[in-house]
Amino acid sequence: MPTLKFAVLAGDYIGPEVMAEALRVLETVARQENLQLAPVPADVGGLAIDRHGEALPASTLKVCAASDAILFGSVGGPKWEKLPPAQQPERAALLPLRRHFTLFANIRPGLLYAELKDASPLKSERIPNGIDIVCIRELTGGIYFGQPKSTTMLPDDDVEAIDTMVYRKSEIERIAAAAVAAARSRGKKLCSIDKANVLETSVLWRKTITAYVAAHAPEVALSHMYVDNAAMQLVRDPNQFDVFVTENMFGDILSDEMAVVCGSLGMLSSASLGAGRNSHRLPFGLYEPAGGTAPDIAGRDLANPCAQILSAALMLRYSFGLEKAAARIEAAVKRAVVSGTRTADIAFGGKSVGTRAMTDAVLSQLNS
Ligand code: NAD
Repeated sequence: MPTLKFAVLAGDYIGPEVMAEALRVLETVARQENLQLAPVPADVGGLAIDRHGEALPASTLKVCAASDAILFGSVGGPKWEKLPPAQQPERAALLPLRRHFTLFANIRPGLLYAELKDASPLKSERIPNGIDIVCIRELTGGIYFGQPKSTTMLPDDDVEAIDTMVYRKSEIERIAAAAVAAARSRGKKLCSIDKANVLETSVLWRKTITAYVAAHAPEVALSHMYVDNAAMQLVRDPNQFDVFVTENMFGDILSDEMAVVCGSLGMLSSASLGAGRNSHRLPFGLYEPAGGTAPDIAGRDLANPCAQILSAALMLRYSFGLEKAAARIEAAVKRAVVSGTRTADIAFGGKSVGTRAMTDAVLSQLNS
């Protein structure tokens, strides 16, 4: 019986509420598919600041390093807002985790079921069948990490700030491989987004992606788009994309734009895959909902657990190679929502259920 050892970092506010639901779903799937679950909980974020004085204590990092994947909730909230920026839960927990495990490939499905298309701010005639696209964002390079980075007082009393955008060919090749794998598993269509008319890093990006696809995946139809145009195309006709791949900062912005056009944050999952292999010889990864800790609805049985449940499905797919189990969870969530069981964020003022009842509906679909 395969053992799935993963760290459970639930975090703050709705984090633990939706994490408990994702674990219930995993327990059911494990029973059905004869899998042994070995979740190891650890403190992170604001809770870890309160208990250990830091958002990512060494003990938590140790638990993660001894696991094959991390199932992450979300961190932060008003309680810790007054801390200096470098100690804020999100920055002090997520960024070091990304760096420590070289989580370079951020995969975000942009999925909106046709039945939920009213949740999108786009006119329904633009998305008659909902939305089904995937964003692949490079997560450990580019301007967020490049050196030098500084703010300097100049002799003429002016102030100068510098950020540096850097990419190596090898960094672009490894994200190209992740993007090609995603394109192959879907419609074999990949759009690479850059600013090659202005940026040196984008010229290298475009050249490297083009060469990689020609050499390793000639069956994938590759196109290129400038990032300013991509921002417009995402709201004009999101489904013209199938899989798109882009560098860190462009991906930060475009993935949030994609989340908005897809409606509720409560439905969106994500995977951040690392450079290293786990004990299953698959990518180590961190799996988390696209949304934050939603302090406005925390503790009231209002949070939509689906994003966390779908993130757990991505963990089964990418870090444990359990495609069938992952697809079963995804199908169960879809059937539960489509058949009318909805939390308030996707009920459009109609009848809604709470966090636990939403999960019960998913479980009953898994059991049927
Ligand atoms: P948020 O994503 O927490 O909430 C934005 C809106 O979406 C809120 O109205 C919220 O109720 C709703 N929402 C989010 N998830 C939902 C769910 N599962 N079900 C139903 N509704 C949901 O963003 P915010 O309010 O800007 O941030 C709150 C806190 O979360 C901040 O401290 C922020 O730093 C933190 N945050 C953490 C992460 C992370 O841990 N990865 C990501 C984003 C924000």
